[in-house]
Amino acid sequence: MRSNELIQSPEKCSSCGACVNACPVSAISLSKDSKGFLFPKIEESKCINCKKCISICPLKNAFLSNNRKDRVYAVVNKDKNLLRMSASGGAFSAIASWALDNDYFVYGCAWNPEMYPIHICVSNISDLPKLLGSKYVQSDAGSVFTEIKEKLFDGKKVLFSGTPCQCDGLRRFVGKTFDNLICIELVCHGVPSATLFHDYIELLEARLNGKIYDLKFRDKKRGWGALLRIDYINYRGKKRTAFLSPDESFYYSYYWDGYLYRDSCYQCKYAGPNRQSDLTIGDYWGIQKVHPEIDASLGVSVVLSSTEKGDMILRQTTDYLSIVPSEIEKAQIENGQLLDSSQKSELNEVLLEIYEKDGIEGLRKYYVSNSKKKIIRGKIKRWIPLKVKRAIIKLISSN
Ligand SMILES: Cc1cc2nc3c(=O)[nH]c(=O)nc-3n(C[C@H](O)[C@H](O)[C@H](O)COP(=O)(O)OP(=O)(O)OC[C@H]3O[C@@H](n4cnc5c(N)ncnc54)[C@H](O)[C@@H]3O)c2cc1C
Repeated sequence: MRSNELIQSPEKCSSCGACVNACPVSAISLSKDSKGFLFPKIEESKCINCKKCISICPLKNAFLSNNRKDRVYAVVNKDKNLLRMSASGGAFSAIASWALDNDYFVYGCAWNPEMYPIHICVSNISDLPKLLGSKYVQSDAGSVFTEIKEKLFDGKKVLFSGTPCQCDGLRRFVGKTFDNLICIELVCHGVPSATLFHDYIELLEARLNGKIYDLKFRDKKRGWGALLRIDYINYRGKKRTAFLSPDESFYYSYYWDGYLYRDSCYQCKYAGPNRQSDLTIGDYWGIQKVHPEIDASLGVSVVLSSTEKGDMILRQTTDYLSIVPSEIEKAQIENGQLLDSSQKSELNEVLLEIYEKDGIEGLRKYYVSNSKKKIIRGKIKRWIPLKVKRAIIKLISSN
């Protein structure tokens, strides 16, 4: 079989990795296109034409309808330490803590030592922080699918978390409903390629004259929001930390504005209120307006439960989470991905062509010459004292 028979519409392929895992003769691998995005490629001499890859591909299979109304919650982790390490209200860290206390293997996205995002397995609470925080770049999840399937058939309990396309890819790959599998998907507006992101890391390292060993897109030093924290070892071997607001970082700014995603993200069938995984978690943006009774200073997560298993987990995690019932209409007000996928702008192609031609430095230069005011605004925002920021938020939400 040829690669183009497997992916007839490359613009819809999310490279979830299900086909790579399903191939019984290891004839499929993911290979990069000129912009760094991964696509499945078939080694024709190995292919035995069994078509397993096609039968499990999420693109070629129906989307299940699941539109329960009474299943939306605003949640906050009761453990302040975990809450601080999480991107929003720490829904994931609370559910993962419950899962680890109940002998689950927890899978999620972590940085590898080279600062590429990969999915790993955690079975000990002390390793949970590796999975916390949003890594705004496509992670390699497919490499753990086969390992998860083996665990499920052995009767072991597994919690998998990732983007909706990764969760769907895993479910299709394992092939049947397992009581011992929990899937938690993120509300997701899209992912840039890991290659582009890694080029950005190398550019930062050159500017910092050091080696980056950790990066947080959602540091909470200045409260719930977006602040890039970069931890690195400088040329003298000393640990140092740098902060950038999204407007000061061309990668973050272009990411946040939705300009660097792979094509499939702009036609994501998982965006919207209709969800496939047991639980869906995201930021409850705008919470101050619709639930002023909740303390939102360190973040609040929106959680959608789409299955009875999801309902059961929420019932069992009340020691870990404060849970307030909410409504989908309220959660959608400031969260576009609960309505529809990200919109593709002309700038997406412009920027990816610049990257293809002039590399990451080309993207940086383009941003600096076109976003001077934004960069200055970003610097000012980063210096506004936290108390003033909170007062402004309070003022805005009371109007
Ligand atoms: C690429 C991406 C886009 C997102 N877009 C939106 C959005 O548009 N609207 C919205 O409300 N929320 C979005 N989120 C989710 C949001 O950033 C928080 O992750 C979510 O609110 C859960 O927060 P938390 O505090 O519970 O957990 P956190 O500790 O922040 O979340 C950790 C979880 O995120 C998973 N994760 C982190 N990075 C990745 C990755 N690259 N790929 C797969 N899984 C990953 C981990 O496995 C873990 O399950 C996005 C997250 C990502 C990674």
